[in-house]
Amino acid sequence: ERLSDGERALIARREKVLGPAYRLFYEKPLHLVRGEGVFLYDAAGEPYLDAYNNVASLGHCHPRVVEAITKQTAILNTHTRYLHEGIVDYAESLTATFPEGLSQAMFTCTGSEANDLAVRIARFVTGGTGIIATELAYHGLTSAVAEFSPSLGESVTLGPHVRTVPAPDSYRHSPEEMMEKFGRDVRAAIADLRRHGIKPAMLIVDTIFSSDGIFAGPRGFLKPAVDAIHEAGGLFVADEVQPGFGRTGEAMWGFERHGISPDMVTLGKPMGNGYPMAGIVLRPEVIAEFGPKARYFNTFGGNPVAAAAGKAVLDTIRIDGLQQNALDVGRYLMDGLKDLADRHPAIGDVRGAGLFIGVEIVSDPATRSPDAALTTRIVNGLRERRVLISASGPRANVLKIRPPLVFSRENADMLVDALGKVMAAASP
Ligand code: PMP
Repeated sequence: ERLSDGERALIARREKVLGPAYRLFYEKPLHLVRGEGVFLYDAAGEPYLDAYNNVASLGHCHPRVVEAITKQTAILNTHTRYLHEGIVDYAESLTATFPEGLSQAMFTCTGSEANDLAVRIARFVTGGTGIIATELAYHGLTSAVAEFSPSLGESVTLGPHVRTVPAPDSYRHSPEEMMEKFGRDVRAAIADLRRHGIKPAMLIVDTIFSSDGIFAGPRGFLKPAVDAIHEAGGLFVADEVQPGFGRTGEAMWGFERHGISPDMVTLGKPMGNGYPMAGIVLRPEVIAEFGPKARYFNTFGGNPVAAAAGKAVLDTIRIDGLQQNALDVGRYLMDGLKDLADRHPAIGDVRGAGLFIGVEIVSDPATRSPDAALTTRIVNGLRERRVLISASGPRANVLKIRPPLVFSRENADMLVDALGKVMAAASP
């Protein structure tokens, strides 16, 4: 299959008008025109099984969200400085899904803004500036947040107040080492900040380590690191943009799997099932002093349409039992992938929680050496078979499988079957 003349022309127009910072997925880019449930459709009407898009977490164009947005758009859409039930109802429903203590919410439009606000609050509260993040973290695109998002690569320079720690790699460390190592690395980073006269403000962690390579377990390994930052007078920020809203199956929020209690939790992506909304849930004591001085205002964040979309998402997760589905289908899918690993030595590891699964591709299971070239062939081979996933990790050799939470066992079979065929064809 080749690109059509129309697709080639669209790529040329796109490059001309959007410039070189925009990237397309796949050797043969995909031209999508419609989405429904777990399927995306190309311009020719062909369906693709979506095992990648965690924004459309309830499935693409979910009717309950579409209806909520459409209805509210026709009634009122304005900012948060007028009295309106929407934002209050939504914030109450949202905070009710959190453990005791995390009881206030603030709304933004993107995860980047949420993390940017978290930095500002953490610095105000602690009087420090130091930030600790993982070596290949992505937390967002603002100037402040890009300074601790090393996965952006050479386009950013990490801030002088930033220290990175290796993500805890469960494929290369034993569970005992995992329980101890991350905390030790965070303590070393705190000591190094201090040596340079920098007071720590926060440790921020994506609790499923999505861009670092997807490390879900053993549960509890985050605890010593959180204790370390607290002892140092800093705050712990859980970035739940990726694992949040039930995706891990085991809990509504990724940090809960680790038995830890963040000071702030940042949210985004699936929060509006595609409607741009994000935010922070925090402890009231964290914002108590900052709040009155900050007079927080965000033109679009938390508007009545966003609140309606967010409420529809929370209702659907609860009513349709999507967290439970993520757990059940996630386990079923993981078993299927492990069976495949028994037949294909290039699959070195299958790991994850719920419907957030990483499959590590290696050239030799004995040395565990990453095989990025084979991974690229697999991702593109799946695209040819109309199954969409991507890759992550320091060597881009971890298949990232992150389907909508409505994924069924039948969908999981389709994915495993296609991957088996692609592995058979792509392995040397
Ligand atoms: N944090 C994490 C863990 C993310 O994955 C992302 C987006 N990929 C962000 C923050 C930033 O979110 P946004 O793109 O909405 O700004």
